[in-house]
Amino acid sequence: MNGTFFEPAFRYVYVEDRAAGLPQTRRILAKLPQAHVIPIRHYKDVFNRSRQDITAQSRSLALILADEPDPRVYPGAPVCQNFGNDAFYYTSTVMNCVYDCEYCYLKGMYPSANLVIFTDQSRTFAEVDRLLARGPVYLCISYDTDLAAIEPLTGFLREWYAFAQDRPGLTIEIRTKCANQALLSTLPVLSDVIWAFTLSPEKVAQRFEKKAPELERRLAAARYAASRHIPLRLCFDPMLRFPGWEEEYRKLAQMVRDELDPEQVRDISIGTFRISTQYLGQMRARQPESPLAQYPYTVCGGVASYGAKSAEMTAYMAGLLDGWMSRDRMFFWNEREE
Ligand code: SF4
Repeated sequence: MNGTFFEPAFRYVYVEDRAAGLPQTRRILAKLPQAHVIPIRHYKDVFNRSRQDITAQSRSLALILADEPDPRVYPGAPVCQNFGNDAFYYTSTVMNCVYDCEYCYLKGMYPSANLVIFTDQSRTFAEVDRLLARGPVYLCISYDTDLAAIEPLTGFLREWYAFAQDRPGLTIEIRTKCANQALLSTLPVLSDVIWAFTLSPEKVAQRFEKKAPELERRLAAARYAASRHIPLRLCFDPMLRFPGWEEEYRKLAQMVRDELDPEQVRDISIGTFRISTQYLGQMRARQPESPLAQYPYTVCGGVASYGAKSAEMTAYMAGLLDGWMSRDRMFFWNEREE
């Protein structure tokens, strides 16, 4: 993937007035020479419009370049794993994702599928510094998007690496399905910057993660990261429940066991699909034919999930990895964490 990849994907770029003069905005626009650039007053004028056709937008994403006066750092949500870290935060310098997974909570969270990039990260960095003054910080920087997938356009990961390298106490997680080994080869290796690859059974990837790299390429990227001694996390999350799920996850675990050295994996994350009921309602309205929309979830505390079946599924996955990775390096999300 390189900068030209985005030319057909972003034929229209909306640029907020206050972002137009920023060097970061100009740098991104320079990578999209064919795009039609449309000035706007505020990103919400476009992003928050009512009655948007998210399905149509997903087929041809527009890009919105904006500037956010407030830092975009938030406490981690209860549906997210904190990996034993109390000071758990995430950032959201990009809203929405080019991969468009069918189960993604973003479909219920935002009124638009278009991608918003807050081009200047300096206020976010300043906020992280304020948090670091109080103690160690565990920060997920790739939650409401896949930053690695759009790194050729944004350069944000490179900025995060430069920021993190002299910030003791800061641990960063980069969650991704991106398989761009060239990117991994050019970024520095920092012991507290973790690459967390989401791995799904081939059948799940083909059906529900159509725009993301296929499983084999993600595994190859994870192998490559391990060979460079990049701190590596494997995420079996969200596990989905469907007829034959056990066999599909058994095959996935076998591939992982065959292809990766557990000594080169820092830890693993196991969790089942869960989503806020509010987002689920919007997801059901937008893609009613999806098996994810039709499943009879258990609702507890405003979160829809597989309920008691979640523990069964995570225990099954952990059992498949027993003997390959010790339990003290496995992290789980299940109902009890709510
Ligand atoms: S890669 Fe992650 S953020 Fe992107 S669409 Fe898929 S689930 Fe959502």
